[in-house]
Amino acid sequence: MTIAARLLEIKKALPTGVTLVAVSKTKPVEDILEAYEAGQRIFGENKIQEMSDKYELLPRDIQWHMIGHVQTNKVKYMAPYVSLIHGVDSFKLLREIDKQAGRNNRIIPCLLQVYIADEETKFGLDEADLDEILASEELKSLKNIQIVGLMAMATFTDDQTKIKLEFDHLNAIFNRVQIKYKELKNVAFKELSIGMSNDYITAISCGSTMIRIGSTIFGSRNY
Ligand SMILES: *Cc1c(COP(=O)(O)O)cnc(C)c1O
Repeated sequence: MTIAARLLEIKKALPTGVTLVAVSKTKPVEDILEAYEAGQRIFGENKIQEMSDKYELLPRDIQWHMIGHVQTNKVKYMAPYVSLIHGVDSFKLLREIDKQAGRNNRIIPCLLQVYIADEETKFGLDEADLDEILASEELKSLKNIQIVGLMAMATFTDDQTKIKLEFDHLNAIFNRVQIKYKELKNVAFKELSIGMSNDYITAISCGSTMIRIGSTIFGSRNY
């Protein structure tokens, strides 16, 4: 099957209210263009340099999502154009995004990444860290960011029951913070970014509003 055919097959089966982020990391611009011509406008990358190179080469109506771990000193390179940063996992990073967004006269939407897997390798905040950020006085002073939701990755396993438990747990956190912090001007919990190629069906059943699909659309990656 072609990239366009695989993309359309996934899109056809998506419930309304679920946004597809086509994860194009490591893939050439030709592959992205093929998806673009099939109607896809939202692409996810996990390296800022690679995303910026592709941004320069590709149509300007593409919305670029940063889905990877972000180093504070590289925020400036994507601040002029990035449309959503999924992996915000510290106040320090949020502060830097706010600063760079301000320099570009924009408000950058962000998701806070929550750690839900039982693996040592995944980045993210635990529930206490999440509350610490959301309850802090300093957050109110960040005028150039908007926290629009949560992002997470489940444990890498084929056990969908285990994945479902982790996503349900995240959904409960999402519902709690959505209510608890609803008065904050720069916070509005709308998006729940969960679901990748191996678990997106489960993620959708657990309330996902944004799935991040790479290999099912573009084929497996060679690093
Ligand atoms: C690579 C990646 C994806 C997509 O993974 P696939 O299994 O190829 O669909 C989604 N989210 C994040 C954070 C990633 O790094």
